[in-house]
Amino acid sequence: MGEAGGHHSNPLMIQSKTLAPSTGAPALDFGSAWDYAAAPERVQVKIAARYGHFIGGKFVPPAEGKHFPTVNPATEETLSEIALGSAADVDRAVAAAKAALPRWSRLPARERAKYMFRIARRIQERARELAVLETRDGGKPIKESRDIDIPEAAQHFFYHAGWADKLQYAFPGRNARPVGVCGQIIPWNFPLLMAAWKLAPALACGNTAVLKPAETTPLTALRLAEILAEIDLPPGVVNIVTGAGETGAALVAHPGVRKIAFTGSTEVGKKIAASIAGSGKRVTLELGGKSPNIIFEDASLDQAIEGIIQGIYYNQGHVCCAGSRLFVQESVLDEVLVKLDIRLRSLRVGDPLDKNTDVGAINSADQLQKIRRYLDVGRAEGADLHESNGSPLPERGYWCRPCYFTGVQPAHTIARDEIFGPVLAVMSFRTPEEAITRANNTPYGLAAGVWTDKGSKIFEVAKRLKAGVVWCNTYNQFDPASPFGGFKESGFGREGGLHGLRAYLELS
Ligand code: ADP
Repeated sequence: MGEAGGHHSNPLMIQSKTLAPSTGAPALDFGSAWDYAAAPERVQVKIAARYGHFIGGKFVPPAEGKHFPTVNPATEETLSEIALGSAADVDRAVAAAKAALPRWSRLPARERAKYMFRIARRIQERARELAVLETRDGGKPIKESRDIDIPEAAQHFFYHAGWADKLQYAFPGRNARPVGVCGQIIPWNFPLLMAAWKLAPALACGNTAVLKPAETTPLTALRLAEILAEIDLPPGVVNIVTGAGETGAALVAHPGVRKIAFTGSTEVGKKIAASIAGSGKRVTLELGGKSPNIIFEDASLDQAIEGIIQGIYYNQGHVCCAGSRLFVQESVLDEVLVKLDIRLRSLRVGDPLDKNTDVGAINSADQLQKIRRYLDVGRAEGADLHESNGSPLPERGYWCRPCYFTGVQPAHTIARDEIFGPVLAVMSFRTPEEAITRANNTPYGLAAGVWTDKGSKIFEVAKRLKAGVVWCNTYNQFDPASPFGGFKESGFGREGGLHGLRAYLELS
């Protein structure tokens, strides 16, 4: 089981290896030195052999009787059979959402808030179970699902519950009404958290919803459906239809849907934008990214390295705003590379249910193949690949060692395309002007990171970076009160905060 399974005779011994050829600095191999005992999360989670759709407050079998498997990417075991949604299922779910709309939207806002507080509390109460389920279905390390995904999902319901009866303060002097039935389509990188990002503002504003989780990670959304039933959310307020692209497309095309909220690839986002053009439907799209991190020579380098590591290897790089391009000022490039290498080698790759694991499994065989293709292209185009070495990876499952490329040119494919894996492209720059120009030289604009000791530089650079979020001396910080969204091909519209409410309201 990855590094966790091995045993070293002296756990405190750190092996000092030869000098790293490129930099002349010592390269340390922490991989074999830090052998902890395996610490798997022991919570037992029941998973049904088969799941239907959640429509009108009940689980119902799919109209066409078809199912598809959802697989644990760390073991390749099938966890459950999931209903494959057809146009008939989508139709039924939209009808249920439409039927629930008048009563839900006219409910006193504080009553709507009470339901949302209950959802938030129940997520907290069932947090361990949800975390294990998330990790088993998606492959992300348990410490991330336990400490980030599930608590933040609860936070989103708490935060938006607070807004429900205060919309007149959010938009003073305006009359705020719900939009209607919302179709919400989410990806596999943060399954429960993305469901919360979508559902919480929709419900707070008095809308009803049909949610379609990603085909590789439907289990926590279905567990959320159980929670909604448990807290007596009125039937039809939230409906969950499972399936893949065709199910999503049927939801987008449905005439009863008034608003589409989508998070996923730019490719699918473009299709959605094209398919609803002229329909009068509202849309928010949160799409891909190729986010830059810029390290200036005056930055605290150790702190910056932590942020870089977090920014690209967190959740196996399955993060739309992953800091996948690193620009380092030339004078500190060698030092940064040594530090990056050392830190990379200390990352533990393996069983996602082990609390010591830093990097879990790649979400699916398809995604792993895509990442591997990019690694080949990177090498073929002349960049140098540096991988974390360490102990053998588990025999089954989908694994990719965290890695970075040096010798990268801006025109290289790995510097331009979103890879959605633990792959960092390192480049250098001389002047702040050059850093800004190169960081902005991308069709995307979701996020960016700036690392410097100088406050004035932070403001100047952040102002000129074309990205929805610019983090300064930190990375990947999220808060339900803070709007998130992209520039250019990273999408449009904002989610979270007051800005996020706007998309779910008609203002007059
Ligand atoms: P990723 O690359 O992150 O997997 P996708 O854009 O492929 O992102 O998928 C994100 C979500 O969009 C998933 O729930 C997927 O099933 C859904 N989806 C895929 N194709 C379509 C489509 N043509 N119309 C609507 N939804 C789609």
